[in-house]
Amino acid sequence: MGTGFVNLSFWALSTIALVLAPTTTLSQPAPVAKAQEPGKSLYKTKYRVIDVHIHGGAPRQEAVAAEIEVMDCAGIIAAINLDGGRSDETLAAAIKLEKKHAGRFLTFAKFTKKDFARVREPKFFDGLVRELERAAKLGIHGIKIWKDLGMWIEDGPGKRLRLDDPRLDPFWAKCGELRLLVLIHTADPKEYWYPLTYNSLHYGSRTEDDQMYRVPGMPRWEDLIAQRDTVIKKHPKTTFIGAHFGSMTFDLQGLAQRLDRYPNFYVESSARLRILGHLNPKAVCDFFVKYQDRILFGSDGFVLIGGYKPGRDKRNVLVYPLDDEDRLSVDGKDAKVVRCWKDGQVGMYSSYFEYFETDRLDLVEPGSFGAGWLRLAGAKLPPEVLEKFYHANAERLIPGLDRLWLYNRPLKSASERSP
Ligand SMILES: [Zn+2]
Repeated sequence: MGTGFVNLSFWALSTIALVLAPTTTLSQPAPVAKAQEPGKSLYKTKYRVIDVHIHGGAPRQEAVAAEIEVMDCAGIIAAINLDGGRSDETLAAAIKLEKKHAGRFLTFAKFTKKDFARVREPKFFDGLVRELERAAKLGIHGIKIWKDLGMWIEDGPGKRLRLDDPRLDPFWAKCGELRLLVLIHTADPKEYWYPLTYNSLHYGSRTEDDQMYRVPGMPRWEDLIAQRDTVIKKHPKTTFIGAHFGSMTFDLQGLAQRLDRYPNFYVESSARLRILGHLNPKAVCDFFVKYQDRILFGSDGFVLIGGYKPGRDKRNVLVYPLDDEDRLSVDGKDAKVVRCWKDGQVGMYSSYFEYFETDRLDLVEPGSFGAGWLRLAGAKLPPEVLEKFYHANAERLIPGLDRLWLYNRPLKSASERSP
């Protein structure tokens, strides 16, 4: 395990923390700050929601059943599992699951560090394109590119493989040709590239060791974003969805420039309310109104499948790679653990919806994380914008998705749904 796996999405930690905390339920106070404050009722949305960013790996049946219960309860009609994996590993199982629960899950193949291990072999880049073709044949709807491309994957000793390396051009082009969406996570919040200070929004949830400026050879944040921009510009026939507001939440003006410049660029909303909720809510609302056709709802939620044992090098526990010996497995049949996880996930969705739909000033960050002292100001988006953001944009980008949901059980009304 390289240092690349130290700085991972903080949702992972929150999910596992909830799973591991045996007494954390909505009816009992939790020992740490969490998404749903004790005694506070859940916020229910009345809209149909598609979550374009969840992590599912190849979970067991009981985990899938639990996920569907969470989705039904929160009002999530369909979710995109970004962890489909490779055609010779977990992908076929993930697609099988998708077919079994038609309309609830969509599968994206994932390309991470492991898939680039043979980058120095002569036919490697051809192989990547072939893998895309195999995965498309199996029935994927898109691919996920993780931030380790650009930040951690090496092309030689100490030399990072760039996103805009010309050898990757056939790969990006093929995604467009096969009509595969590219959900691309590049870089991270810019603040991670600077020392933490007491007034940082991330204070208490990261340590100085997690900050990127300390990593030898780590490209500058600006360079990573520029690499991504080059790829988007060079491949106008390929549709890119920037994960986590394209890592530009703190600078909506900069993000607006990209959206203006690249019609094939979209963003999704997961895991950045900590930053978004501290901008002027009126400015956030204006941004959503202006770019209402370009923003999709994503949560970064995790299906119940396990994580890493907490430890010094694995503070940010995560569910992959699945073969790691330090992986912790969660007993999906343990009702208490499952209940705990479900409460956490439903609470996470509740916090998201309350932020997007209300103008309350005392909102908590979705998920459960260390910076529990933060309070966010809701953006209160107009109904017609919410309709696009929550589902219509995803339905437009993924052909057939608008019809698939009709096959699902009709959703109960918001008031009928309970955790
Ligand atoms: Zn994620």
